[in-house]
This record gives sequence, structure tokens and C-alpha cells, in this order.
Amino acid sequence: MKKRIFSGMRPTGRLHIGNYLGALQNWVRMQDEYDCVYSVVDIHALTSLEDTSALGSLTHEMVLDIMAAGIDPQKSILFVQSHVPEVTELNTYLSMVTPLSWLLRVPTFKEKVKLQPHNVNYGLVGYPVLMAADILLYKAEVVPVGQDQIPHLELTREIVRRFNTRFNPVFPEPEGRLTSFPVVLGLDGEKMSKQTGNLIELAITAEQTAKKIMGAITDPSRKYRSDPGNPDVCNVYRLHGYFNAAEVEEIAGKCRSAAIGCVDCKKRLAERMNHELEPIRVRRRELEQKPELVKLVLEEGAEKARAIARKTMSDVRLAMGMV
Ligand code: SF4
Repeated sequence: MKKRIFSGMRPTGRLHIGNYLGALQNWVRMQDEYDCVYSVVDIHALTSLEDTSALGSLTHEMVLDIMAAGIDPQKSILFVQSHVPEVTELNTYLSMVTPLSWLLRVPTFKEKVKLQPHNVNYGLVGYPVLMAADILLYKAEVVPVGQDQIPHLELTREIVRRFNTRFNPVFPEPEGRLTSFPVVLGLDGEKMSKQTGNLIELAITAEQTAKKIMGAITDPSRKYRSDPGNPDVCNVYRLHGYFNAAEVEEIAGKCRSAAIGCVDCKKRLAERMNHELEPIRVRRRELEQKPELVKLVLEEGAEKARAIARKTMSDVRLAMGMV
């Protein structure tokens, strides 16, 4: 029996290479090792999205990227969070065993309050409970987490202990699978952001990718082609590490001795990146032509997820004394 793993992504639209290197590659790799339940968590998006008119298309775009990157609906359950309404019921019940003080101390809540002080809604403070409901609805035993998500998972584990002690032991305590997500900076060396456009989306063309890379900042102290460079401060070099591991040492040496110029270095990166991303782009274009197939995958995914969810909710209601 494989252990069950749950992971979700908020629908922010098209995925970029930071998402690809940070989470998506991991999702694909875990498909053979775990019983994977993957969700596009659209309800979570509502805590910060005031204009929801694009939510449907953002969700669709993300599903296309996820499938194109290699999530196989025959191996994994892929679905949209709101298509399994049991999650909101479980969210309500878990709210009853979660002290408000636990939620107010979560670091991401404090950050969100700073980011959207005009919209500190009830869902925002309850966000970690909904995350717990996502995980526990499928009785997931493992959750892939980055360092910054450990407090959320610990909160889920505290909720499990409290629920199981007060009622019956319904839920497993999920373990974190600590994943060293690489911090991928944008082309300007800052945090990747859709607003600044400093990112490379998976779905753009090879030519657009090359153009973006050619505009990336490098070692700022290297003014002339004959100047030696410092790869340690260069984001292009970091990207070589992810997409061109075989040549990364050689590039570092040639950069330091000025045997390679930044233009050629970027061209090489663009070639390697395009080589790796091309199969994803081809699959994505095929999926764009088959909206009925994508719809069917999501319907079947939701049906499989709901089968697990219904069973869990029956256990939960029984444990809580509801008839
Ligand atoms: Fe960066 Fe490459 Fe230029 Fe060195 S040669 S500074 S690694 S882009």
C-alpha cells in the first residue's frame, strides 16, 4: 500500500519556471511513490481575490500546465477543490476544535494582514483550518512542505490530536515531507512576480523565452566582455544550475576567466531551457485543443476525490455524534 499524499496549488493562472522547479517537478516525481491527491485550491484563492471574474480561466490555465508537466490522471487524482464540497463541511467542523489563538499566531496570517489591510476577512484567519480540511478529508499521511509551510502543517497536526482526543481517532497525523524547494529569482534578480513580468511562464514560446533570458541581469560588476565575472552573484548562472547541470562547472570557470561572455552564456541557457520545456509546451498545445478531455479529467478526478471524502465525512459525523 502506498502512503497517500495531498498537495494543492492556488490558481494564479499560468505556471512559471519557479513553480515548475519548486513544486511541479516534485509532484510529477512523487506519482510513482505515493497515492497522490492533487488539487487546484480555488476556494483558498477567494481569501485574497476581490475580483473573481477571472477565477475560472486562471484555474483552467493552471490545470493545463499541471497536466502538460506530466501529472497523469491515471496515476494521480487531479481535481478542483470546490468540486468536492465536503471540504467546506469538514472546514466548519474542524473550526469548532481550533482555538482562535492558534490561528492568530500563524506567521502567514500576520503577513497577509500587512499585504491586504483593507480585506482582513474571516476566511483569511481560517485559512489554515481549510488547509487542514484539504489534507484530512483525504486522510493524507504525507504532505510535501517547504520550510515556510512547517507551521501550517504543525497546526494541522495539533487539530488532528485535538479532534482525535475529543471524539474518536478518525484522522492520521500527517507527516511533512520536507522538500528543499529552490528559491528561483526573477530575471531582474528580485522575487518572481507577475506584476513586474520578471518571470518565464512555461507556456510561452521558445523565442519569447530566449528573449526574456537575453534581458536578464547578470553580474552587475561585469561591464565589459573582457572583465572576469562572478557566477556566484549571477541569476543566469543559478538558472544554469537547474537547467544545464552538466555544463555548470565549465560555465563557472569560463565566467571567472572571461572565456565566455554573458551573451553566449545566456544563449546556452536559453537552448537548454527550451530543450527541457519543449515537450511540456507541445503537450500543453495539444491539451488546449481538447477542452472536453480536460473537463473529463477534472470530473473524474472530483468523483474519485468525493468517494474518499464521503467516507471520511461519514466517519467524522459518526465520531462527532451527529445523526
Ligand atoms: Fe553570469 Fe554567465 Fe555572465 Fe558569468 S558569463 S556573469 S555566469 S551570464
